[in-house]
Amino acid sequence: MIIVMQSRAAEAQVEGVVHRIEDLGLKAHISRGEFRTIIGAIGDETLLKPEFFAGLAGVETVMPIMKPYKLASRDFHADDTVLEIGPFKAGGPYLSVIAGPCAIESEEQLRASARVVRDAGAVMLRGGAFKPRTSPYSFQGLGEEGLKILQGVGAEVGLPTVTEVLDVREVELVARYADVLQVGARNMQNFRLLTEVGQAGKPVLLKRNPAATTEELLMSAEYVLTEGNLRVMLCERGVRGFDTATRYMLDLAAVPVIQGVCHLPVIVDPSHATGHRELVPPMALAAVAGGAHGVFVEVHPDPEKALSDGPQQLTPDAFRRMMAELAPIAEAVGRELQKPNT
Ligand code: PEP
Ligand code: MN
Repeated sequence: MIIVMQSRAAEAQVEGVVHRIEDLGLKAHISRGEFRTIIGAIGDETLLKPEFFAGLAGVETVMPIMKPYKLASRDFHADDTVLEIGPFKAGGPYLSVIAGPCAIESEEQLRASARVVRDAGAVMLRGGAFKPRTSPYSFQGLGEEGLKILQGVGAEVGLPTVTEVLDVREVELVARYADVLQVGARNMQNFRLLTEVGQAGKPVLLKRNPAATTEELLMSAEYVLTEGNLRVMLCERGVRGFDTATRYMLDLAAVPVIQGVCHLPVIVDPSHATGHRELVPPMALAAVAGGAHGVFVEVHPDPEKALSDGPQQLTPDAFRRMMAELAPIAEAVGRELQKPNT
């Protein structure tokens, strides 16, 4: 349920509504817009009756949120959410490129990739230290050692870092080193992990599971949001298709579908979606043309030698070319390309 306050409602009146919500044993979430404040009352809907709030001072209207996701919906927060991640912005009018290797393999490898992506215009550095691999015999990542490398190299190149947290037991550890916690596609509906990540106090990049609907993705985001963490980016990374020519099937329509109902930034990962490096730049450009708030791309200094996802990682040259092609498209669709401080 949302409680829309009158445009001149006093802070004490907002607090009065918050207290009423909390007295009912529910959670109150406040969204302050340019003109008015909206308060979300979230919890057991059977406890919620509009008349509990309608008579309170400063209240204009009380409305149920019809969608199953509440805090993620534009009913709760009409304008695009813009996240501040280090000195950079994500969401709203901004376009953010997040890039780096699939996995952190060594300090030299990450540094080489980081310099390439920063110099070409990425504003966040990605790299996995805990890798979700199909086979237990494949490279699993460097773990904490990888996180230390990521933190060091991120600071060196001046980019905030994004890395996956695979397990509830490692949330605290990953949050100690990384700027953004990535929840991978396989864990999109690991609800305990989502709750834990929501409490970690760091921005979150939540990837869509290849078998999940966009509504299920938003319900998963809701688990993070309801912990009071409104700094969530959603990531489309391909769904399970029937064509073996690509690794997954990039669902670009998901971008405007989600943006129509949700205020959070929507990022597209053309690397995992296609699985082939020659398909990554065209799909990155298409994502930007289609209104994505960012792209999330794997770049390796020498992809032939990569310990994971070699066929889809861009070479430094290919990434530079892609960035040059992306800039005019961003401009054409009115997105402001975020630039690193070099
Ligand atoms: C990744 O981005 O490192 C990754 C493993 O992606 P996904 O969870 O989308 O498969
Ligand atoms: Mn990968």
